[in-house]
Amino acid sequence: MTAQIIDGKAVALKIREEVAAEVARRKDAGKAPPVLATVLVGNRADSLAYVTSKGKACLELGMGSINQHLPESASQMEVEAMVRQLNADPQVNGILVQLPLPAHIDEEHVLALIDIEKDVDGFSPINIGRLAQKGRQPLFAPCTPSGCLYLLDQAGVKIEGANAVVLGRSNIVGMPVALLLISRNATVTVCHSRTRDLASVVGQADILIAAIGKREMVRGEWIKPGAAIIDVGINEKPDPTKKKGYRLVGDVNFEEAVERAGWITPVPGGVGPMTIAMLMKSTLRAAQIQQGEI
Ligand code: NAP
Repeated sequence: MTAQIIDGKAVALKIREEVAAEVARRKDAGKAPPVLATVLVGNRADSLAYVTSKGKACLELGMGSINQHLPESASQMEVEAMVRQLNADPQVNGILVQLPLPAHIDEEHVLALIDIEKDVDGFSPINIGRLAQKGRQPLFAPCTPSGCLYLLDQAGVKIEGANAVVLGRSNIVGMPVALLLISRNATVTVCHSRTRDLASVVGQADILIAAIGKREMVRGEWIKPGAAIIDVGINEKPDPTKKKGYRLVGDVNFEEAVERAGWITPVPGGVGPMTIAMLMKSTLRAAQIQQGEI
């Protein structure tokens, strides 16, 4: 069997076009464009690159973007004051605090301050708490996990009743993706660094979400034939043919897995582009919620 490749880049592009069309329609109707505010504390190169791409995406889709950059030395009070200021600013529809924050900042406190109607990243305790509870709906779900489910739906993978295995239990990917799968009536097993015999657990999966950050750890022979594989991992693999000396690969050995799976996302070009596309969708949704449209 050769798996169907799930083209995250194409799916993300379609979402972006849909968001841009709705933003344009709203502008024509005399409404202000949705505005996303990002808060970056410190100078991590990866975080700086992420907030830059998010701001750029906003502008490409006709939305507004505010990038607040605080120094590494910013105090807890200063970061909290920034979130309060953005909560109070009627021009701002969505607030994204770029994680991780420097070690001296209490992330939980900062995330708890974000107005839930502006919490486009879905990490405030109220939105995550609602996601974890039966019969409650978060206003926003975290972007990368939502992107994983969106790709499964687009590929036509049946989630209800499926055995889903999630590798990783982080706050940003593993845990929320498991909660989203449960809310869609999958039977979910969450694996982590203390899981015994990972290969046999993976072998039960109709749907496998890999988010562990371990280069090509999941081998083709572990995979149940016909399974749907969503590979969230982004890892560097030495490659002298590349200018940078490496290329990006996932947590799953793609060359092996593609021979057994029914569907698989590539790395890059799978989950990666979905994160920003889902964030743009959430920012538009925030404006719609705040203006009483949904
Ligand atoms: P993380 O916070 O480091 O969490 C990794 C998780 O994997 C932990 O739950 C850990 O278990 C588990 N784990 C580590 N080694 C394992 C092993 N050998 N066997 C089983 N489980 C193991 O990572 P993350 O932030 O969730 O990110 C995971 C990957 O996704 C990374 O490669 C990251 O770059 C990528 N990512 C991609 C996107 C995107 O595409 N947009 C977004 C976010 C993250 P413990 O809990 O026991 O420590």
